[in-house]
This record gives sequence, C-alpha cells and structure tokens, in this order.
Amino acid sequence: MRARRVDVGVRGDRIVYVGNIKRMQARRVIDARGLIVAPGFIDPHTHTLEDLSDPNRKSNVNYLMQGVTTVITGNDGGGPIEIERTLRRWEEGGIGTNAALLVGHGTVRRQVMGMSDSAPTEDQLARMKELIGRAMDEGAFGMSTGLYYAPGSYARTEEVIELAKVVAAKGGIYDTHMRDEDSYSIGLLGSIRETLRIGREASIPVHISHIKALGREVWGQSGAVIKLIHRARVEGIEVTADQYPYTASGTSLIAALVPRWAEAGGRDQLLARLADEPTRVRLLAEMERNLQRRGGPASLLITSSRDPSLRGKTLAIIAAERHAKPVEAALEIIRELGDVGVASFNMNERDIENFMKQSWVVTGSDGSTGHPRKYGTFPRKLREYVFRRRVISLPFAIRVSSALTAEIFRLPQRGRIAPGYFADLIVFDPQKVADRATYEQPELLAVGMRYVIVNGQLAVEDGRYTGALAGRALRR
Ligand SMILES: [Zn+2]
Repeated sequence: MRARRVDVGVRGDRIVYVGNIKRMQARRVIDARGLIVAPGFIDPHTHTLEDLSDPNRKSNVNYLMQGVTTVITGNDGGGPIEIERTLRRWEEGGIGTNAALLVGHGTVRRQVMGMSDSAPTEDQLARMKELIGRAMDEGAFGMSTGLYYAPGSYARTEEVIELAKVVAAKGGIYDTHMRDEDSYSIGLLGSIRETLRIGREASIPVHISHIKALGREVWGQSGAVIKLIHRARVEGIEVTADQYPYTASGTSLIAALVPRWAEAGGRDQLLARLADEPTRVRLLAEMERNLQRRGGPASLLITSSRDPSLRGKTLAIIAAERHAKPVEAALEIIRELGDVGVASFNMNERDIENFMKQSWVVTGSDGSTGHPRKYGTFPRKLREYVFRRRVISLPFAIRVSSALTAEIFRLPQRGRIAPGYFADLIVFDPQKVADRATYEQPELLAVGMRYVIVNGQLAVEDGRYTGALAGRALRR
C-alpha cells in the first residue's frame, strides 16, 4: 500500500467516495493538506472491558487520542462469558470507540472448575464447550487464553484444542497469552510450538498476544521464533501476533514471581502455603529464581496498588525500606494487599525491532492501568520506530495498525479507506504525532491526532475530544 493524494467522501456512517473530486458539495469539509489520512487504528489487545462499562471512562478517550477507533477486549483468557449482555450494556450506555469481544477460556474454566489444577472430566469439558459455543453465537470474535495465568495454566494443550475446535467451527479465532514467554516452564520456543499445534489440530487461525522475548535467558530468540512461525505459515497455518513498543511488560507481582502451583485452589490456599514453613521456603527459592529471570528487584516497578505509597517504587527500594530480602518484601505485599500491578523491564530493543518488522505482527497496546502503553502505544510506534529510528515505513505501520488487524480478527468493513467501509478515519500531523505517557506519568494523553472520526462522527476535532460516543458494539 502506498500513500496517495485523494479526496474522501463520507455520508452517514460510511465512506462513499475515494478519488479526486472536481466540484465539491459537502456540509463539512476538512482540509487535510500536509496531514496524513488513515483508517482508524484497531487495537487487538486491550483491557477496556471495565472501562467501557464505566460512565467516567466509556469514552475510551485515551484510545481516541492515539487514533484508535476500534478496540478488542477479553484477551488473556479473561473475556466474559456473557457476551450479549456486555454488548447490550455498551449499546445502551454508549461508547467512544467501537469494541469487540473475545470469550475467555480462563473465565469459562473457572466457572466450571473453580481454581482446580486437574484435567476436566468429560462432563466439565462438555459444559465448557457449551459455554464457549453460546458465547460465539452471541457475537464473540474468538476465544482468548491466558495459559501463563491461573487457572488457564492448569489446562493441558489437549483441553485447549478441544475447546478451540468449537470456536473454529463458528469461524472464530484463537488469541493467546502463551504459557511461557521466558523460561518458566516450557520456554518461549516450547510455547510457540504449543500455539502452532493448537492451530494445526483445531484448524483455527492463531494469534499470539504481545509477542516478546521476556528475560535475559531468552533474549535473542526472536530469530528462532520468527523461523518457527514462518515455517508454520508456509505449511498453511494462519499465524499472526501483536506487539507493543515498550521494553517493560505490565503484569502483577503474583503473576511475575509466584509459581502457579502455589495459587492452585485460590487465595486461601496460597495464604495457607505461606504459613507452612517448608512450603514457604520452597516458594521463596522459586520466587528468587523468577526474580532473576526478570532482571532483579530494580527491574520491577510498582505501577498500581491499593496502598498509594508503593506506587512509583521498585521492589529493590521497597525491600531496602523494609530491611527485607526482595522476595520476602514481595510476599509481604501479596499478604497485605492481595496483589499489585508492576511494570517489569525485561525486553531488549533488538528483539522488539525484529518482531516489529514482520509482515504478520500488528500493533496492540495490551493497555493496563499504570503502564504508559495504555495511552501511548500507537503514536509511540509512529514517533519512535517510523520517524526517528526508521525501523519500519509509515505505510507499513498504518497497515499493521488497521487493515491487517481487521483481516485477522474478521472485523467486517473496517480498517480500510474504501467505498462501503465504515467511516472510521483519522487525520494526523506526522511532525507532531507523539506519545506523552511515561512510567512516571502513565496517563498523559497522546498528541498529534487532529481529527478522529468514528462511524462518520467527529470524536476528536482540532486535537480535542468532542464528547461523542459514536462507537458501536461489534458482533461477529
Ligand atoms: Zn497478556
């Protein structure tokens, strides 16, 4: 795709004309000379499920200011079972961007089996299939898994394949936060192989969430990952991925440090294990190892917490304040506060750039509270990786932030500037487009989006949010 200088006509919620108009009659004309006009960006991995149902956040303004006009949510295995009810709530309350849902394997498994770490009985498996099938019928675009997190981590590959077959039969996709992006269990390459096997055996398109090489032990493995995926694509498996352009991931302290066996049975069981001295010793030793994988206590920054005095501090600082070993301080926090959000600095720019250049890697924020990616992902990719470092070209960046994402998730008539498509359009200044959110101030809105149009309505005008709630709840 190349840039062209054309006029774009919009009527109602659709694009009706793309070409060179000689004489023009329009109620409103936007002069986009010197600016870039692009399809509204589509974010395949967000944590907006609650935001969109919250009267104060349903505008999704942090995404609109990034040029994002459609978000997908329900990723990481955490999507709802009640698809229709969620979509209807959004329709009634109004939302700022379009939004689509994935049904969550973790939610379904928890509903049927609690926090059990065993394999499902035949009845339980049948019940899970039924719930997933119904969610697909209600409009989910696919199923997400979070095989790294409990309870998704308790599922064997065979269970996931059986459930993915239900999704495949209904034309949905498989979206996964893989079992291991590091060297915790089956390793990064083992997880890629598991994902490809699911795609092959369930005959389903597979999409890898936030692809990365997490931690020193797997740095440099992006090349091997790309090779495996390339081979699978040649074989005919539809494999794609998304990525955010930051060196820190966003997760929770428990997810980062505590081994999954310690969470089996739920929080009460975890606390009981902490009270049992031999188990506690074993747990601390494994946590120590996990902390090293992630780069040590100075690489974990607390970004959200019920106790605001912890925010903005690294685990190293908190441990020093408490005169405790870092893993012991972490356990104290977990006992006192339940869990806290962390930014975990664990990626390397070379792997990030390597993944970003692949034609099958799209942009996705994975936006979570306290991490700047929720406010900055799309403009940061443009500012830093297109304009400053020239890792990818502007047309490439736009395609993998819109058209390709729509194709992967089968979002009908979105992601392109073509007659008949929905009028989700953005107009931005290439000199000014930039993220402003940082780890210290993660909620600064991005700049440079002059106009953002959602379903034919102006949601951002002259760089300001108009108050429009023009988004639609999308159904498969
Ligand atoms: Zn994830």
